[in-house]
Amino acid sequence: MILEKVIREIETVVGRENILTSPEDRWCYAFDATDLAYLPDLVVFPGSAAEVSRILLLANEHRFPVTPRGAGTGRSGGSVPIEGGVVLVLTRLNRILEINTKDLVAVVEPGVILGKLKAAVEEQGLYYPPDPASADFCTIGGNVAECAGGPVAVQYGITRDYVLGLEVALPTGEIIDTGTRTMKGVVGYDLTRLFLGSEGTLGVITRIILRLVAKPAARQTLAAAFGSLKAAAEAVSRILASGLAPTALEFIDRVTLGCIREMLPFAVDLKAAALLLIAVDGHPHDVEERAGAMARFCEEQGARPVIRARTPEEAEQLWKARKVISPALKKVKPQKVSEDVVVPLSAIPDLITALEDLSRRRGLIIPCYGHAGDGNIHVNVLYDRALPGEMEAVEPTVEEIFTLVRRFQGTLSGEHGIGLTKAPYLGMELSPAAIAVQKRLKQAFDPNNIMNPGKIFPQPPKARAREQEGI
Ligand SMILES: Cc1cc2nc3c(=O)[nH]c(=O)nc-3n(C[C@H](O)[C@H](O)[C@H](O)COP(=O)(O)OP(=O)(O)OC[C@H]3O[C@@H](n4cnc5c(N)ncnc54)[C@H](O)[C@@H]3O)c2cc1C
Repeated sequence: MILEKVIREIETVVGRENILTSPEDRWCYAFDATDLAYLPDLVVFPGSAAEVSRILLLANEHRFPVTPRGAGTGRSGGSVPIEGGVVLVLTRLNRILEINTKDLVAVVEPGVILGKLKAAVEEQGLYYPPDPASADFCTIGGNVAECAGGPVAVQYGITRDYVLGLEVALPTGEIIDTGTRTMKGVVGYDLTRLFLGSEGTLGVITRIILRLVAKPAARQTLAAAFGSLKAAAEAVSRILASGLAPTALEFIDRVTLGCIREMLPFAVDLKAAALLLIAVDGHPHDVEERAGAMARFCEEQGARPVIRARTPEEAEQLWKARKVISPALKKVKPQKVSEDVVVPLSAIPDLITALEDLSRRRGLIIPCYGHAGDGNIHVNVLYDRALPGEMEAVEPTVEEIFTLVRRFQGTLSGEHGIGLTKAPYLGMELSPAAIAVQKRLKQAFDPNNIMNPGKIFPQPPKARAREQEGI
């Protein structure tokens, strides 16, 4: 609960027009892309780093929680204000401050929509590679805070590989710069990396310096259909070891394929158990040759047919279909829990087989798709809240998935973060000593625990239920 007099103070910082107080308005900022929702006491839209800093100082003085929020597309409850307080929405900080074509650097505010940034950079003949499927609506600040990835990470890497430096308003109010705007820099501890994937728990990112690369001259896309899931999964590491250097290597299983079939620019055999969606970037001649070789290689691995997109429009249609997979899965069941586990490449076939078995045992549909080229598989547990027993079976199923992943020496999250939904499972991957060190780091930055409390670290039962306050 924030006292009325404190709300008045916040108003003097950002202006009355930049806060929301009515329950109807506040509910709009209560949730993200999970099914979780917790009502904030106040929603605040700061217009500068200085305003962010003053709100954080007030939060320390009056001890209210502050939860940073970009576009609220997160998949682990990171921007859900579990302890109420202020939701700090960064969307007014939405300027692209600089695109420097000589230094190959962009300087941006955190509220810039990723898709707009990518388009502005490409207009200058350069390329900012990270491409989460949410690019058209997520913010670059949210990408940095979650260390977002996407299909082209196979060749280009993830958000972490492009952030050179940051401006951050710390929970205690100081504004610091981390990193450099040069391509290298090793002065002091690498705080930039510490903030990457910190899920809004260590500070509010108010400015970002990004590395850019040359725009690829050409790209070709192929779709390879496989008769068995295992054959498709086994082909993944063989393709990566083949020297054909795919830019993207996505895996789509039969259930998922069924949800996007009508969006594909060509018919895919109903008997296909899985599809590999592959992109190849480079010089036009090289790409032509490699795409041909890739098609032949996939055929040697048992793919039938392998279809090459004939035009850029067909390729775009294929990638559009890939982008809508997540919402399209709701055609099968109205609710889902989406995990984004990563396993070593050699373990993908065994993971897929084990998940088929788990699905049969638990009686739940568990479609898989995702960035197989990174070993990053989106495992979705579908359910219908209205059907007796289904919802109750979800959490134990998720726990079994994580157990399997750890058995294969994998990790619980490749790009969505821990947030609220995975916090109870943190101890499956980090030792008590490692968790204690991370908690000490958090305390050094945020001694009064005002910054996005209740996230990452295991919490009392309140935070465990995915849906108890769901709307
Ligand atoms: C359909 C769909 C597809 C998706 N596909 C992908 C994908 O392919 N790859 C991928 O990686 N993710 C994907 N996501 C997840 C999500 O889009 C990303 O995690 C994205 O980076 C979140 O950005 P956002 O602006 O929505 O952040 P939010 O959801 O608002 O916030 C996410 C976290 O970042 C923190 N945060 C936000 N802004 C700041 C800031 N300025 N300073 C400090 N902390 C901040 C929040 O507190 C929260 O913990 C997908 C989501 C959806 C709904």
